[in-house]
Amino acid sequence: MLVDTLARPLRNLRLSVTDRCNLRCEYCMPEDEYVWLPREDMLHFEEISTLADLFITLGIDKIRLTGGEPLMRRDLPSLVQMLAVKPGLSDLALTTNGGLLAEQIDALRAAGLGRVTISLDTLRSDRFVRLTRFDRLDAVLEGMTAASRAFGSAEAESLRPRPRSSAGGGVVPRAFKIDSVIIRGVNDDELVDLIEYGKSQNAEVRFIEYMDVGGATRWSRAHVVSRQEMLDTLARRYGAVEPVIENSSAPADRFALPDGTLFGIISSTTDPFCSSCDRSRLTADGLWYLCLYAARGIDLRRPLRGGASREELTALITAGWRERTDRGAEERLALGGERRGFVPIENLRKDPHLEMHTRGG
Ligand code: SAM
Repeated sequence: MLVDTLARPLRNLRLSVTDRCNLRCEYCMPEDEYVWLPREDMLHFEEISTLADLFITLGIDKIRLTGGEPLMRRDLPSLVQMLAVKPGLSDLALTTNGGLLAEQIDALRAAGLGRVTISLDTLRSDRFVRLTRFDRLDAVLEGMTAASRAFGSAEAESLRPRPRSSAGGGVVPRAFKIDSVIIRGVNDDELVDLIEYGKSQNAEVRFIEYMDVGGATRWSRAHVVSRQEMLDTLARRYGAVEPVIENSSAPADRFALPDGTLFGIISSTTDPFCSSCDRSRLTADGLWYLCLYAARGIDLRRPLRGGASREELTALITAGWRERTDRGAEERLALGGERRGFVPIENLRKDPHLEMHTRGG
């Protein structure tokens, strides 16, 4: 098994298929103008497929398609189809804001998509507009209904292949999840509503602590609602909330409500999971990032387009992972009271790869 300097395996690849997005969430893309990746640099599906083969050979068994908004990439089901049939890949998932999902869900499912996560931070239309700058809550909720039908049923769960890394008692991730970034004074009064909505859709809700990632130029410590605060809020409403003990490298800690409802919290800001982080990110233009907070990525597009052999590309990926030392979120936490937004706007404009929406969240 290929491991890094901290014995973390290479297992999880987040594959961004575009840096474009059709929302402007204030915690991710709050600016008026953005510098976009040049279109000619975008990896073609065949190129993504070639790189995916190499990653799978080296240990990747989970791929999550992301962006930007991945459903803005034309003909995404074709890519899903190319990836889904790869032997060795046991988990193929998609993270989307859901606005274009209703019209694509059947094609995605038929192409072999295994799981879907929809990001939704509020159930209130006026708030949705304030948070995202677009009046699209209805379209997102239609996407939810479609995802619930395709991925939320017991039948959909039972038909799903199990990731290799979940064998032997490991965690089997749910096929349909809802991710909500919780921000103080913005949507921290919607935890219960979101849990109840998740139940109604057969989706597992995961609350995400607001992170100071590149692009989160409005981030401040005061806006972060910690895992503990979220648990306290839910315990006040539901009674005792029990942790679910799992042996997992998943970013979310899972908890159970008294009625058995499961939910997760991703506490990368106050309690990072760097020590078990097995994920890396490939941008839509082929830069490979080994940490969400990494300043630089490894360029795989240039050698790929320059005619590098399979062996040469494999050696590049292997060396990159073996030398990996990143513990970005832990280093951010260690800053304590000095912690501010991670990347100044000038730097984001100079290098859009520093943006969360470019490296895929
Ligand atoms: N457009 C897709 C979506 O909305 O899910 C995929 C890309 S988005 C960048 C991926 C995830 O990153 C979303 O769940 C989003 O909420 C999360 N995200 C973006 N900025 C964040 C921040 N500052 N803190 C925590 N999560 C963030």
